[in-house]
Amino acid sequence: MFLGHYGLALGAKKLAPKVSLGTLVFASLLIDLIWPILLLLGKEEVVISPGITLVTPLDFTNYPLSHSLLAVGVWALLLGVVYFIWKRSSGAALLVGGLVLSHWLLDFLVHRPDLPLLPNDASRYGLGLWNSLSATLALEFGIFFLGLFIYWNSTHSRARIGSILLWGTTLLLTAIYLASVFGPPPPDTKMIAYAGLGQWLFVGLYYWMDRKRRSYV
Ligand SMILES: [Zn+2]
Repeated sequence: MFLGHYGLALGAKKLAPKVSLGTLVFASLLIDLIWPILLLLGKEEVVISPGITLVTPLDFTNYPLSHSLLAVGVWALLLGVVYFIWKRSSGAALLVGGLVLSHWLLDFLVHRPDLPLLPNDASRYGLGLWNSLSATLALEFGIFFLGLFIYWNSTHSRARIGSILLWGTTLLLTAIYLASVFGPPPPDTKMIAYAGLGQWLFVGLYYWMDRKRRSYV
């Protein structure tokens, strides 16, 4: 899943107007932000295997530290605790931790059975929505645009740049997503890791956007 993680973070801003949108996006994306680093370190593996699903050619052969349910739970707890110590708000910390966990659940819907529950578990899970292009697009764009609509409806721009950032990131993410679905498969796994690291840039853009937009509540 790609756009859906962003959509959930955008929608969550209405629930916690005091939490920066950058933090919400960071939490929602966290395990995909860690994954490319682990790929480059050789701790996790992905194989390019065109045709393995209809939507993505990526075969996630080994990613226990970023994507096993237990590891995601630990990442969620860690980020939640750090956020609580930093901001002293248990409700917001719970939401931030919940967003980290939500990533696994959204991935579970679309991935073929490749998600382990425990890091060293041989059994893998996933409902495999990636085998239907229309269902995948409906889910990704559905969550993304619903979240975007909720966010757009509950904030307003303090300066022109607030609007530019909102629509610029939306356009860019949509273009990147469509290129990944309809474009050729990536040439090698290093490229996948570098593209994955690019998501850190969006976290920065959403922190910036948050400072340029104000919540109505
Ligand atoms: Zn993921």
